[in-house]
Amino acid sequence: MGLQTCDNCGNQFKWSQIYKSFMIFYKPIRCSECDTKHHVSFSSRIIASLLTFLPLGIYGTTTIYQSISYSFLIALLLVSLGLIISPFFMRYRSA
Ligand SMILES: [Zn+2]
Repeated sequence: MGLQTCDNCGNQFKWSQIYKSFMIFYKPIRCSECDTKHHVSFSSRIIASLLTFLPLGIYGTTTIYQSISYSFLIALLLVSLGLIISPFFMRYRSA
């Protein structure tokens, strides 16, 4: 596990760069050092959506007897957690 580095020069991308790309529908990332464009790999899209929504789905099946507001808070927390760790699992390839 670790943040992606540039295919061309080895410069490590910032968490915020990857996070931003992730939020704008997997927008390609440009290396800040050498300007090489990187596209997200297909498997990363799957991993990212799993990390974000799978815990939510599992949690959803256990909330039948809990109050709605409490469940909503936990769900929000799970989604945020998935969003925070996703950039560490995202892999990009230079075009
Ligand atoms: Zn680079």
